[in-house]
Order: sequence, then C-alpha cells, then structure tokens
Amino acid sequence: MRPFKSTISLDEARRRLDAAVRPIDRRERVGLADAAGRVAAADVVSPIDVPPFARSAMDGYAVVAADVSRASKASPARLRVVDRIYTGQPSAIALRSGECAEIATGAPLPDGADAVVMVEETAHAGDDGVDVMAAAAPGQNVGRRAADIGRGDRIVGAGDHLTPARVGALAAVGVTTVEVFAKPRVAILSTGNEVVEPGRTLAPGQIFDVNRFTVGALVAAHGGVPEPLSAAEDTVDAIVASLDACASADVIVFSGGSSVGERDLVVDAIAKRGEMIFHGIAVRPGKPTAFAKIILTPGVPSPPTTPFFGMPGNPTSCLSNAYILLVPFLRATARLPPHQPRRVPLPLAGRIVSATGRHQFYTVRIEDGKAVPAFKGSGDITSLSRADGYIEIPADRDVVEEATLVDVLLF
Ligand code: AMP
Ligand code: MG
Repeated sequence: MRPFKSTISLDEARRRLDAAVRPIDRRERVGLADAAGRVAAADVVSPIDVPPFARSAMDGYAVVAADVSRASKASPARLRVVDRIYTGQPSAIALRSGECAEIATGAPLPDGADAVVMVEETAHAGDDGVDVMAAAAPGQNVGRRAADIGRGDRIVGAGDHLTPARVGALAAVGVTTVEVFAKPRVAILSTGNEVVEPGRTLAPGQIFDVNRFTVGALVAAHGGVPEPLSAAEDTVDAIVASLDACASADVIVFSGGSSVGERDLVVDAIAKRGEMIFHGIAVRPGKPTAFAKIILTPGVPSPPTTPFFGMPGNPTSCLSNAYILLVPFLRATARLPPHQPRRVPLPLAGRIVSATGRHQFYTVRIEDGKAVPAFKGSGDITSLSRADGYIEIPADRDVVEEATLVDVLLF
C-alpha cells in the first residue's frame, strides 16, 4: 500500500478542473428535429419577415378603421360584408369604405383594411350586413408584417443553447438545418479483473460492471456521446493499451484502480502517458479520484492533451463524483450552461454522523416531507438508486442532528 500523501479540497479540485476545460471546437450540421439541447455554432439570421403578411389576431371582421372610429353599442356602425377570409387564402378583394370582410384568426388582412373588430363586438344585420358596436383604431387586432421577426434579424446567436423555443424560432423562419458544436466524445472504461459485462455468467469472485452504465447514462444526459470500451485487466500494460485506444475521445473516464492499493494501477498508467493534475480529494464518497492530462499522440510537437478522470471503482463513489466533477466539466466542454440541481429545504428524519475533514455527499430519500438518510456505503449502488437527492455536509462538520433543516439537492 502507498497511502495518499495528501488530498486536495473539493474547491481546489473544482478550480483545477475549470482551468483544464477546453470547450469543443468541432462543428456539425443537424436537422431541426435533432437540434433541441444542442449549442448553436453560428449566428442564424432570418431570411424572411414573420409573420410574412399582416394578419388578423382575432376571429371577427376586417374593417376600415375610419368607418368605425365612433361606433358604440348605442350607435353601431353598419357595414356590408363583401368577403369571407380563411387562413391560407388571401382575399382578392380590396375593401372600400363602408365594407368589411369576415376574417379568421391568422388569415391575411385584405387590402384596404387596417383593423379587425372582434366578432363579440358585432351583430348580424340582414343577409350581408353587420353592426359594429365598438370603436376600432388603426392597427387594432392586427399582427403586422414582421411584428415577430424582421428579415435580417438574428434569431439565434453562436453559443446559444437550443431550447425548444429557439428551435421554434428557427422553424418560424423556415430554416431546416442548423450548425451546432459537436457533442464531446467520452471514452468510458472499467478496470478490474473481477468486472464482467452484464449478460455473462458470473464466475466466483466476479461482479457485473455497473460504472460503465452509470457514467454512460450521465454522459448522455449532459451533452456527451458515451463511447464504452471493454473492461481492462489490472495490469499497467492493459490500462496503458486502453488509454491508447482512446485517441479519438475528447474526455476519458476510467473507473477502478484509482486508489493506492497494489492493484490500483491507474496512477502508474498515467505516469506513462501524461501528467497528473490531482489524485485524492477530501470528499466522501469518492476520495480516490484522479484527474490527469493524457498525451495520446507522442512525437508530435506540443501534442494535444486529453482530460482523464480516474474514478473510484465503488459504484456510489464513482457516480457521486461523476455528478459533482464530471458533469460540470463535460457541460463546459460541450459549451452547455451549468446544470442547476433543484434544492428543497426539508427537516432531516435521522441523525447523521459524517467523516470529519471530508466534504460529504450524503444521499437521502424524501418521505412525508422529510429527508430520510439513504446512504449505506460507497460500494452500494442502492445508496444512490434508492435516493431522491443528496445533502452536503461540509468538511468541518461531523454531526447533523435529527430535525435540522437541510437543503436537499434533487438528482
Ligand atoms: P477499486 O476502485 O478498483 O479498488 O474497486 C473498489 C470496489 O469497487 C471493488 O469492490 C470493486 O470490485 C468494485 N468495482 C470496481 N469497478 C466496478 C465496476 N465497474 N462496477 C461495479 N463495481 C466495481
Ligand atoms: Mg479494482
């Protein structure tokens, strides 16, 4: 055993990670149906006016406003109905004074008309007449051409996160594809002689690979493309060979073997391929976490480096640190806005004794308006799978008493 010489604080780990982020530069073009959740790589300028024509904002009558400028219930203005205008069917008639046209919401305003009177403010008068019982001013109930978007307006800027509404703005101007930043490719690999693929039969001493799937799911949920590799044996050569297989990745995440045991060889593999940025964080779970810059193209002058996370093998430690360290790093790499977990203040349903000197992420379930401690151990995936969120217990605190109001951060 080679004990941890020292650990760094969570804040320091976050600072070093922030400093190592290189936002992705690769771009690709995607169809509008696949654009939501992506990040625009270029400005998009509208080629048209929206709406492309003046249109009615109400079901009612298109009128010449001057004809009804003094209309009221007591003295209605009588107009002759000369057309019916539905959506998608412009009128061939130009309105003259004393005339009006029945019009549907969204239908193009006929020439000559400059206002729309709501149907509720009118009454039929004979076969082709209508009484207008409220005054209208020019422009009333009319959506003027380009009121929403003008031709040449920038509707999406480079770097904008494409929310459903921004995809809607692109659709409104008739755009069919959009240039976006590529999703970072994240190579994911589990190390350990005992780790086997789900679906196989377990031999004595073996366990199924959990981390590849938890990390993969989280990567996909936060803007990355998970690229799983098959598990590596606990030899430096096998781990180095696995690293070499990650040359096309933007981020590498290995789990297992990151501690200081004899079979924890990730540190030795890093020494052969790159530079350690930190090893050991004062958090619980997840202390034996390494972060490094790996060089996969030796011989090239000033070779590019690939960020490497060496996560602990324990499933809860691995996933907890993936949430806390990998997700912010990946989102920044993908140029996505930071993830803001929802916080709910709740009274704690039991007493928690925490490890002093380490910032603890303690999982809880929410039951009957209370935060119920759910943490079993770092090795138990159910510490997380049966939890709704977690609370943070700072390094200088060792006990949180029952009934304390705690901030639960929801997964
Ligand atoms: P390690 O970090 O390699 O010392 O592993 C710590 C513990 O996590 C050991 O009990 C391993 O068997 C277990 N473990 C390691 N990798 C995985 C994995 N991918 N899925 C589930 N458990 C794992
Ligand atoms: Mg191991």
